[in-house]
Amino acid sequence: MPEAKKMSLNTATVSKQWSLREAIEGCARHGIGAISPWRDKLQECGADEARRLIDGHGLGVSGLCRGGWYTSQGVLSQAVIDDNKRAVDEAATIGAACLVMVVGGLVPGSKDLLSARTIVRDGLALTTEYARSVGVPIAIEPLHPMYAGDRACVNTMGQALDLCEEIGDGIGVAMDVYHVWWDPDLENQIRRAGRQRLLAFHVCDWLVPTRDLLLDRGMMGDGVIDVPKLRSWVEREGFDGYVEVEIFSSEAWWKRDPDEVLRVLVERSMSAV
Ligand code: ZN
Repeated sequence: MPEAKKMSLNTATVSKQWSLREAIEGCARHGIGAISPWRDKLQECGADEARRLIDGHGLGVSGLCRGGWYTSQGVLSQAVIDDNKRAVDEAATIGAACLVMVVGGLVPGSKDLLSARTIVRDGLALTTEYARSVGVPIAIEPLHPMYAGDRACVNTMGQALDLCEEIGDGIGVAMDVYHVWWDPDLENQIRRAGRQRLLAFHVCDWLVPTRDLLLDRGMMGDGVIDVPKLRSWVEREGFDGYVEVEIFSSEAWWKRDPDEVLRVLVERSMSAV
């Protein structure tokens, strides 16, 4: 199979240039095998229409980004629980391989990391219970610890897997190299996750220097992450899902012609992934 067919385009990579429809058509044009929409793009298009377009172009769906944000309202509110149910339903409608969860950071105004983590655990358990009934796997994405304050208080693969084991079936991890490449325990934790808990594999690169901690991700091959090695570790466990490219890049890739972005992406899938 050509390498491009194993790749998935996370719509964040071209979020400033393309709608979901344009991204789907772009993937088809460049021979990219799958797509992973963000919910704002999906809702703009409509989930049913998105499903029709995705199927019409013969694409896979490596995930839906994203549910979570359990701590955003201070307590685990009904609004947050309901929004996560809707996210599960959207993932089911488009046949996504998983719903990716960015769990939320500290409760706004609080310094209580432990209680934030408790809220997250309770929220994930509730969402997973619902998702099991619909048949959508839940994928916790551990975020780099620099985001513990404002985005996600689950920061390592080990911590995510502890939660998975506590919650049980129907939940695993979305491993994004940007967030976990530095972790000295990464290889062990990938082994611990095994095929059953490895639900998604996100790639980009860590630029040195990184000028913006959110919006300066690099294209694979332009930074210091040994992406092929990390890929070999997840594939050694039997992971056979798509390699999903997710690049937030306000000053570089978001300013490029999106067809050029996809052309480079496909090129790098052969040399740097
Ligand atoms: Zn990611």
